[in-house]
Amino acid sequence: MAAVQKLSESTYTFLSIIDHTLDDIKSLYYLDNGHNRRVPCYGLGSLEIMPLEVLRMVILRLNIQLITHFRRVNRRARLVVDQIPQYKQIIVHAPASIRGCLSIRTGFSFSCQDLYDKLRTADCNSCSDFGGYLYLVTCRRVCFLYFTEKTDYLPLL
Ligand SMILES: [Zn+2]
Repeated sequence: MAAVQKLSESTYTFLSIIDHTLDDIKSLYYLDNGHNRRVPCYGLGSLEIMPLEVLRMVILRLNIQLITHFRRVNRRARLVVDQIPQYKQIIVHAPASIRGCLSIRTGFSFSCQDLYDKLRTADCNSCSDFGGYLYLVTCRRVCFLYFTEKTDYLPLL
C-alpha cells in the first residue's frame, strides 16, 4: 500500500513510497473464499443445536486463526463463517488483512470483530491523524508518521 497524505478534511492522495507493507508481498497466506460453492453434505454436529445467530456471534468473537481452522472442518462450517456479514465485508474489502495476519502468525491475537471494528475506523490509535495503515501485530490503526518513525511499530530482527 502506498502512503496516504491528507490534503483537506475529506481529501487524501496516495504517495509513491515503497513502504514494505504486506500488500507488496505476493506470497501471502492463500484464502479459498469463494472457490468452493458445492452444497454441504454434513452438518456441524453438536453445534447444530445452537441457533445460527448465536453461533455467528460466537464465531465473531473467535480469533482469526481459529475462524480459519473452523472453516476447514467441512463445507457447512465454511458456509456458516462465510455468511457472517462482518467476515464477508472483510473478505470483500480487505482480504489482505486476514491473509497478512495469518502469514505473520498474529491471527491468534485478535478477533474477527476486532479486525472489523478497526477496518471501519479511520483515525490513528496514537494520534488523531488519518490512520492509513493497519498494524497487524496488535490490530491497531496507525498513521504514516507513527508507522515509519515510532519505535513501537518498527520490526524486530
Ligand atoms: Zn498517528
